[in-house]
Amino acid sequence: MKSLKAKLLPIILFIVLGVRASAQMQTFGLQEVRLTAGNFKNAGEVDRKYILALNPDRLLAPYLIDAGLPVRSNRYGNWESIGLDGHIGGHYLSALSMMYASTGDAELKRRLDYMVGELARCQEKNGNGYVGGIPQGKVFWERIRKGDIDGSSFGLNNTWVPLYNIHKLFAGLHDAWQYTGNQQARTVLIGLGNWFNDLIEPLSQDQIQQVLRTEHGGMNEVFADLYVLTRDKKFLDAAQKLSHKAILEPLLLKQDRLTGLHANTQIPKVIGFEKTALLTGNKAWSEAARYFWYNVSHTRSVAFGGNSVREHFNPVNDFGQMIKSNQGPETCNSYNMLRLTRALFLDNNDVSYLDYYERTLYNHILSSQHPEKGGFVYFTPIRPNHYRVYSQPETSMWCCVGSGIENHAKYGELIYSHSSEDIFVNLFIPSVLNWKDKGVQLTQKTDFPYKNETEIVLSLKKAKTFTFNIRRPEWAESFEIFVNGKIQAIESKPSSYIPLHRKWKTGDTISIRFKTTTRLEYLPDKSNWAAFVHGPIVLAAKTSVKNLDGLFADDSRMGHEAGGRLYPLNEAHALVGKPSSYVSRLDPSGPLQFRLDSLTLQPFFEIHEARYQMYFQTYSPEEYQARKAALKQEEAAALALESRTLDKVNCGEQQPEVDHLYRGEKSVSGSDEGLFWRMTRSYIAYQFRNKNQEGKWMEISVLDNLKPDAIKVEINGGPADIILSADKMIRIKIEGMEVIDLKITALNGSVSPRFHQIRILKN
Ligand SMILES: [Zn+2]
Repeated sequence: MKSLKAKLLPIILFIVLGVRASAQMQTFGLQEVRLTAGNFKNAGEVDRKYILALNPDRLLAPYLIDAGLPVRSNRYGNWESIGLDGHIGGHYLSALSMMYASTGDAELKRRLDYMVGELARCQEKNGNGYVGGIPQGKVFWERIRKGDIDGSSFGLNNTWVPLYNIHKLFAGLHDAWQYTGNQQARTVLIGLGNWFNDLIEPLSQDQIQQVLRTEHGGMNEVFADLYVLTRDKKFLDAAQKLSHKAILEPLLLKQDRLTGLHANTQIPKVIGFEKTALLTGNKAWSEAARYFWYNVSHTRSVAFGGNSVREHFNPVNDFGQMIKSNQGPETCNSYNMLRLTRALFLDNNDVSYLDYYERTLYNHILSSQHPEKGGFVYFTPIRPNHYRVYSQPETSMWCCVGSGIENHAKYGELIYSHSSEDIFVNLFIPSVLNWKDKGVQLTQKTDFPYKNETEIVLSLKKAKTFTFNIRRPEWAESFEIFVNGKIQAIESKPSSYIPLHRKWKTGDTISIRFKTTTRLEYLPDKSNWAAFVHGPIVLAAKTSVKNLDGLFADDSRMGHEAGGRLYPLNEAHALVGKPSSYVSRLDPSGPLQFRLDSLTLQPFFEIHEARYQMYFQTYSPEEYQARKAALKQEEAAALALESRTLDKVNCGEQQPEVDHLYRGEKSVSGSDEGLFWRMTRSYIAYQFRNKNQEGKWMEISVLDNLKPDAIKVEINGGPADIILSADKMIRIKIEGMEVIDLKITALNGSVSPRFHQIRILKN
């Protein structure tokens, strides 16, 4: 592919101008690919039902309310009525558009057109191009326009990620235009773009960067898209202005400063860097995007492709927190990593990007939806013997529902790709490709990953000469290609395309056979935790179906977290013996099934409604005895503390803070050595629940030495009853209180210590 890459750079301008050069890799439209069988087709069907179960009028309500128009139905609850009002509506436009393109279901198109029409009505009523669901939107945006900006990582002027929210609408309108040609969506989108551009016009570069400190999705990406749509240079300028320098600059210097950052906040910014770079010819920005992608996919991701713990990037040399947490990788992160991977694959013509894409598609994305009942997963813990919970259409309005309804609507996007004349077969997924422009149709039949073969049959309007490029994945061994039954003597190496150049005619059949093996993949921190991977498929074992509390989420604030009992880590199954024996002791017991001692390993994507083990600790027999004793002690202390805890917040972590109604001024948060914190020069406040008033005290732990005179602690508006104030701990009596509003004020303009964790404890 080297020569292809070398050819790419001079032709970028042609791509910008809409003239595709011959070698440039392009995707097929979703409407050109139909899935025909298998797990991905099933996932699409299940998702389609979920999409249809959502009520467009309820999703539109926040937009109508903000425009002062009567609603047809009440807005949804959960995240749709506590600040992120309208975000699912934006995702819904994208999901309807892609699912319609993928299936041709007319009801989806009808709903999409209806939604776009209603949004146009809101825009018209607002009168200035604005349309949005953000509560008190007009007041909020007016403050921004005046340069009155107080932003932290997830709150801007005490509103929950408003730019993240409106980004979903921008993207949804763009998708409605791109996938279905809805002209009205294009008009509303351009109006919205003009409005936003005017809004930020009076702001200085510094003020815009201040706005960008708060999570804002891919605002730079949508303005790059707007430029492609309109060729209006001001949108390209906006894409550059809306690129967050605090993230971009270290990447330009090839520095990974991601540890401790909220992961899903950063990934869409980088998609925007890449898209903007392609349009401006800025190679340094493109390099920065590739550097970010490489680091996240190779040093920050676990076997199934996901990253982050409690939504944040962990230290690359320590995945310990992720092993312990019930909040493992978030599905949105992989949704965005696949969007970045797709962009880099297309822009660089580099097939090796597809190894990560395929791995994450099978093991994270596919696994993140219940395959029969529907519902989307937020966190996928790697903690042994934990489980995952599923959203429900009426109760759950999380980010991962928004990205979830999109994820399963676009499985056709990269099974095949093409250049001006040639076809590339990227994934082994049963499907039909209909390349109408060229009069080429092909049918792929396969039971992969259950069988290591696939067959492609061609149908052409007339015989024609072109190259069929078959991807040989990095994991495929003994790769053999047959054309009409005759083996092709072509040398190939893993992670490459194998070209088949000839005159093709109807009925020509390409058969591909290969071998897969099972490997043990260690965590990137090189600790002794490892997962079994067979070909591209991550294996795991069902370990229990007990204590699956909250399996189908209600509308509670933490409904997306699998909050059931944590099983002790020292009781997890471990691999003990010589390293070479770990894989060799697997005993095949069915298609992609292996017995491992008392467990049965199977594809992780098959495991639902169960506790599971994906990662195993590996030990020599001596190490095992010593470690087991130490772990038992540690774990007992941690579990004892958790069992005494009725409520807690990890200060500085996005979701826990949102869930405890965080408010504050002049406050910053961060993390050191994996410990999160928040400090303030003014005040911070949280609300806690003391269920049934079982809690006797509140403990506030800090990372710095406390100076008792420097802060004021208040409970429910009055002075706190402090019974202990030690070096790094404050203990407060809270007996008899059900709801506890905590406010900590830094006195005399001083800086508070870094608050780490606040717990409500029983005796
Ligand atoms: Zn999410």
